[in-house]
Amino acid sequence: PGDQLPDDPAKPTVVVLGSGWGATSFLKNLDTEEFNVVVVSPRNYFLFTPLLPSVTVGTLEPRSIIQPTRYITRHKKRRVAVYEAEAQDVDPIKKTVTFQDLSDIRGAAGSVTIPYDYLVYAVGCENQTFGIKGVTEHACFLKELSDADKIRTKLLDCIETAAFKDQPEAEVDRLMHMIVVGGGPTGVEYAGELHDFLIDDLKKWYPEVADRLRITLIEALPNVLPAFSKQLIQYTESTFKENKIDVLTRTMVKDVTDKSVIVQDANKETREIPYGLLVWATGNTSRQITRNLMTKLPAAQTQRRGLLVDDYLCMLGTQGIYALGDCTATQYAPTAQVASQEGIYLAQMFSKIGQKNKLERQLAELRASPNAVAEEVEAVVKKLNRASKQTPFHYSHQGSLAYIGSEKAIADLPFFNGNFASGGGAAMLFWRSAYISTLYSVRNRTLVMADWAKVKLFGRDVSRE
Ligand code: FAD
Ligand code: NAD
Repeated sequence: PGDQLPDDPAKPTVVVLGSGWGATSFLKNLDTEEFNVVVVSPRNYFLFTPLLPSVTVGTLEPRSIIQPTRYITRHKKRRVAVYEAEAQDVDPIKKTVTFQDLSDIRGAAGSVTIPYDYLVYAVGCENQTFGIKGVTEHACFLKELSDADKIRTKLLDCIETAAFKDQPEAEVDRLMHMIVVGGGPTGVEYAGELHDFLIDDLKKWYPEVADRLRITLIEALPNVLPAFSKQLIQYTESTFKENKIDVLTRTMVKDVTDKSVIVQDANKETREIPYGLLVWATGNTSRQITRNLMTKLPAAQTQRRGLLVDDYLCMLGTQGIYALGDCTATQYAPTAQVASQEGIYLAQMFSKIGQKNKLERQLAELRASPNAVAEEVEAVVKKLNRASKQTPFHYSHQGSLAYIGSEKAIADLPFFNGNFASGGGAAMLFWRSAYISTLYSVRNRTLVMADWAKVKLFGRDVSRE
C-alpha cells in the first residue's frame, strides 16, 4: 500500500495547509485510506513551540524540538504528497489552492494550482507589531526556529562586543541591556531563560561584563500573564524581582530605533531606553493569505482576528474548508493545546466521512445487485446513518504551564470544578515531564533529555555561529 499514489479519482482530495500543531495533529490521527492527501507548508517539519524559548540561549539545541513532516506521513496507509511550498491563494468558489516553492532553491516549476474537495486550513498566524515603527526592522521575534537561532546569535554578538577592548562604558551598558516587549507567556518564558543563561554561564565565561547584564520586560497592561491566576501572576512578578528582571507594567512601547525604544508610561510620560537586543512578543495577527480569504467572503467572515468557523470547524461561508488553530477566531485562546485537540477532532470527523463514502459505494453496489438481501441493505443503511452523525467540537482544557527561570515554573491546572495553582521547583518538574510526554517522538524525547543533561554537566555553549 505504501507506493499507491494519492490520486485515486474515486476518492476525495484533502489538501492540508501547514505543518504546525493543528495540521500535524490532524495528519497524525488521519486514516488516509479513503482520501488523496496533499500537504503544503513552507516548513517541512513540525516545531514543538513550548520549548522554543529554551533554544534562544542554548538550553536546547534547535533540532531537538523539530520533527520532519515526512516522518509523520510516511507510515500512512496510502502515500501522502508533501510539498515544501507556500500557499498563496485559496479560491473557495472554484475550490482550488495555489502554491509556490519560495525557498532559496526553487527549480523550474512555478506556481501550481490544484483542486480540493476538502481543505484543512492550519496556516497559523504572524507576529503582531501594531504597525509600530521600527519593530520589523530592529526587533527579533520568537515564533519560528530561525527566530530562536537569530536571538542566540545576536545575544552572543552583543556580549562579545560589550567585552571588546576599550568599549565605552555607556556602550557596554546599552549592549548588555536586553529588552523583552510583551508580558504574555512568550515574553515571560524568554526572560526566564535569559536569566538562567546569565546566572549559569555568563558569569563563568564573561566575568568582565556579566554583572552589567540587565533584563527589562515591558508590558502595556497592569500585570504580566493576564491569562494566569492572580496568585501565579504575583509569584512570577516576585520571582522576577528576586532575579533582578525589571518589569515595567502599564508601559507601552511606541517607537523602536536600532538602539533604543521609546516608551510611554501610565502618566503619558515618554522616555527613551537604549538596548542591545530587543525581543518582541506582543501576540498574534492574521497572515496575508488568511486576510485575502476573508475578503472573498465578506458576508460570513466579519472578524479581523481570524477565520470564523461553526461548531464543526467548518469555515463560515464555505463548503469543504475546515479551519483550526491560531488562524481562527474562536472562544478559545490561540494555543497548541487547542490546535492539537481540533486536529484530532477533524481527523475523527474525516474518518467518519471516509467511512460514509465507503458505505455509500457499498450500498450502491448492493442496490444494483439482483441478489441483494434486504437485511444486508438495511444493515448498511444503519451504519451509514451512524457515520453521518457528527458531534460538535468540544475543547477540554488540561491546564496552563510556563517556565519562569531559576528552575521554577508556574502551573494553572483544572481541578474538579475549580483550579489548582502552583509555582516553584515542583511545578518545574511537572512542566518538564508534561512536555517530555507530549513531544512527538522517542527521538525528540531522547534529544531533549540529553540536552538538559549536557547543560547540567558542561553548561551552555557560548560559541556564536
Ligand atoms: P502553527 O503551529 O504556527 O503552524 C502554522 C503552520 O502553517 C506552520 O507549519 C507554517 O509554516 C505554515 N504556514 C504558514 N504560512 C503558510 C502558507 N501560506 N501556506 C501553507 N502553510 C503555511 N501553546 C500552548 O498551548 N502551550 C505552550 O506552552 C505554548 N508555548 C509557546 C511558545 C512560543 C514561543 C510560541 C511562539 C507559542 C507557544 N504556544 C503554546 C502557542 C502555540 O505554538 C500555537 O498556538 C500553535 O502553534 C498554533 O498551532 P497552528 O497549527 O494553528 O499554527
Ligand atoms: P500574548 O498575546 O499572550 O501577550 C502579548 C502581551 O503583549 C500582552 O500582554 C499585551 O498587553 C502586550 N503588549 C502588546 N503591545 C504592547 C506594547 N506596545 N508595549 C508593551 N506591551 C505590549 O502573546 P504571546 O505571549 O506571544 O502568546 C501568544 C499565544 O500563545 C497565547 O495564546 C499564549 O497563551 C500562547 N503561549 C502559551 C505559552 C504557554 O502556555 N507556556 C507560551 C507561549 C505562548
